[in-house]
Amino acid sequence: MANTMTSPYELPGADIDGFEDLVELALDLSGTWKHATDRIWRELDGTLWELTHNPWAVLQTVSRERLARVLAEPAFRDRLKALIRAGREQSGVASWFEQRYPQAPFTSVAYFSMEFMVSEALPIYSGGLGNVAGDQLKAASDLGVPLIGIGLLYQQGYFRQLIDGKGYQQALYPYNDPGQLPITPLRTPDGEWLRLEIVLPGYSVWLRAWQARIGRVTLYLLDSNDVANYPAHRGITSELYGGNAELRLKQEMVLGIGGWRLLEALDLHPQVCHLNEGHAALVVLERARSYMQRADTDFKTALTVTRAGNLFTTHTAVAAGFDRFSPALVTQYLKRYAEQQLKITLDELLALGRSRPACQDEPFNMAWLACRGCGFVNGVSQLHARVSRHIFAPLFPRWPTPELPIGHVTNGVHMPSWDSAPADELWTRACGKARWLGCDESLTRSIRNIDDEALWRFRTEASRVLIEQLRHRLARQRATSGASLQEIEDARQLFDPSIMTLGFARRFATYKRPNLLLHDPQRLKALLTHSERPLQLVLAGKAHPADTAGQALIQQWVEFIREADVGHRVVFLSDYNMQLTEQLVQGVDVWLNTPRRPWEACGTSGMKVLVNGGLNISELDGWWAEAYRPEVGWALGDGREHGEDPAYDAHEADALYELFEQEVLPAFYTRDQANIPLGWVARMRESMARLTPEYSTNRSLPEYVARYYLPAAEAWGARSADNGALGQEIVTRRQRLDQHWSDVAFESVSVDSGDHQHWFRARVKMGELLPGELLVELYADASRGDSGVCQPMSCSVQPTRHNNVAVYETRLASCRPAGDFTVRLRPSPDGLLGILEEPRILWQH
Ligand SMILES: *Cc1c(COP(=O)(O)O)cnc(C)c1O
Repeated sequence: MANTMTSPYELPGADIDGFEDLVELALDLSGTWKHATDRIWRELDGTLWELTHNPWAVLQTVSRERLARVLAEPAFRDRLKALIRAGREQSGVASWFEQRYPQAPFTSVAYFSMEFMVSEALPIYSGGLGNVAGDQLKAASDLGVPLIGIGLLYQQGYFRQLIDGKGYQQALYPYNDPGQLPITPLRTPDGEWLRLEIVLPGYSVWLRAWQARIGRVTLYLLDSNDVANYPAHRGITSELYGGNAELRLKQEMVLGIGGWRLLEALDLHPQVCHLNEGHAALVVLERARSYMQRADTDFKTALTVTRAGNLFTTHTAVAAGFDRFSPALVTQYLKRYAEQQLKITLDELLALGRSRPACQDEPFNMAWLACRGCGFVNGVSQLHARVSRHIFAPLFPRWPTPELPIGHVTNGVHMPSWDSAPADELWTRACGKARWLGCDESLTRSIRNIDDEALWRFRTEASRVLIEQLRHRLARQRATSGASLQEIEDARQLFDPSIMTLGFARRFATYKRPNLLLHDPQRLKALLTHSERPLQLVLAGKAHPADTAGQALIQQWVEFIREADVGHRVVFLSDYNMQLTEQLVQGVDVWLNTPRRPWEACGTSGMKVLVNGGLNISELDGWWAEAYRPEVGWALGDGREHGEDPAYDAHEADALYELFEQEVLPAFYTRDQANIPLGWVARMRESMARLTPEYSTNRSLPEYVARYYLPAAEAWGARSADNGALGQEIVTRRQRLDQHWSDVAFESVSVDSGDHQHWFRARVKMGELLPGELLVELYADASRGDSGVCQPMSCSVQPTRHNNVAVYETRLASCRPAGDFTVRLRPSPDGLLGILEEPRILWQH
């Protein structure tokens, strides 16, 4: 039931018949990816819709007369009713998840993220991280995975960008009027606005709660802009990624601690808690605190039980990317929480965020805390997981990095959000309407059946639409920055639909090398102005307001465009956001990505062109390191890391020019009699057919379910059963290890070789520990074509009361010299969450 009472503003047409359907549609963000819904809003107010893509603002703005007239049209009402019906029917049918896991061990997963990119109308995102979060919620709605989003409502969101005539970036902070956002205040059954209290040093902070609906999924948002708050606290949620470390810590307290309290206030008890990046790490403390209270137990036991249900997804490829707070700041903000709520000492708290717990000046690292508090950790691509195992190595001293417990789920994007209306039609014709609603193996085959002519027509039409949009956008951009009428008029002539369009839009950070193409301006200019095979280039991207180096890169482009006099072939558009992304990924021929390997953890923008038939040229980093095949696009780099070596950058820039000159442009401009570039279309087809299903959330979300949500829910179920009996047992077991581990040692290791066998025997001083509590393994590294060996040894002589030495032995075929092997020993992993939970290990010296 729509509740028009929830808007702080009066809605002009509230009493008109059919209006409640519009409200229902406007407040359901799943409409944002249904092309048929766009038509409804366009009809009500085309201009406002194009400018905002905010249905709620449209509803608040349109006149009564207009609403009454449109709602009186039977055809409009029919379409509206059909959309509402389709939404409700979808909620009624058994989803992919219900069919696939009828007995699932979880009823909900709480998904915590500092940002969510769901819709242009809800500007609470910055970039890639928010994109992953938003697409995860959207896919959960489509697939019926019971996810609950938890985030913050920022009064100003992330900064908005204006680029002045000299190429300087100006940061703007327009106010997000919550009354105009497609969200509603969260009210208790008796109508009271739900407010939560968290304690900061000296004061309480009141948090207001909001909800956004995304089909079957709800996203809850907290904000601190409550009149009851001390003025300094009203601004905690003012800005995403702004302010200093202190503000960031306060925001993270609101997200982690406030977020879990919100779930409790709503009587929601998710079995699994998914931390999207370390910003949300404080939730592991609050979840444990709430468990302490419910099970009447101590923090250690509570963390042992709750950890089993926590998953941490890390997104950065450099250690400097983690949030770290000074011990003084943590003391100021969390000492009382630790002592009074968690009943632990400040030092115990600080130790959870340090690699060396006793090191007093080591900062408090949110990723370390997340690792300590989660039973599962993953990176966002295969390469990123490998890199992460190195970054997290300080938490696992003496472990071989390949064994570190960091898995991966390569990101995918929610295809229905990024496809154009014509792409939607093309895919629907080839693969049916339900193609993104579950695993469908036949997509690849169906797309391969589309003929050259249809594919090329689709692509040329997309180019035409993009160029129109770019002209419009550039004209507006120029008009608002005081350009002359001539300049505004020129914007309407921008680009040529018959020329190949290259897109490059992303955060302007130095590791992404947005200026790689500028390495040799003359050579670039020659590419742009080639008489037969020219190139046109559209650029966009923001640099964080504190990142002066990133801002200089923007300026460098603006200067190049002016000085090389290539304004008809290159354009830099300001204020890169979701709407601009949509236009670009739907229309460009080629998408370029030039990060320094391995610093792009995954990257998602390149995945958004797949469904629309765009091709990728990218460094072999992140997702492209997995996806690239010569049949689907082009690769830059040799698949190795070269650091920040300027000579290598120069080498790659040369390789990039050459790629354009020798391969990409000739492929685009080599046509058959019907003017179709057959080689190009073949690549398009393979890229669409093979990569689109693979790099969609239709693949990645089911992977999260199978690899993490199900095991985490099961582990949490086992540990929390019988009031946490298993959790308690694990704590006791680990306490014995704390006491006696230092007495464990190798007394001797011997090997007998012969008869094509090695026979290893290890004598181990056990202290008080019993053979069942330890695991002894024979280990050899993988090297020179030999695969690694890790073979358990069995206890052949038990320790006795007089002689607490046990003997372990094993035999193996002597394919490798005995000297390759080492014996190692660790606590028995049975029933534990692997190395993550129990990283102790001892090696034969
Ligand atoms: C998709 C997207 C991103 C993430 O793209 P990368 O490939 O990680 O650079 C960032 N910002 C916006 C607006 C996007 O739409």
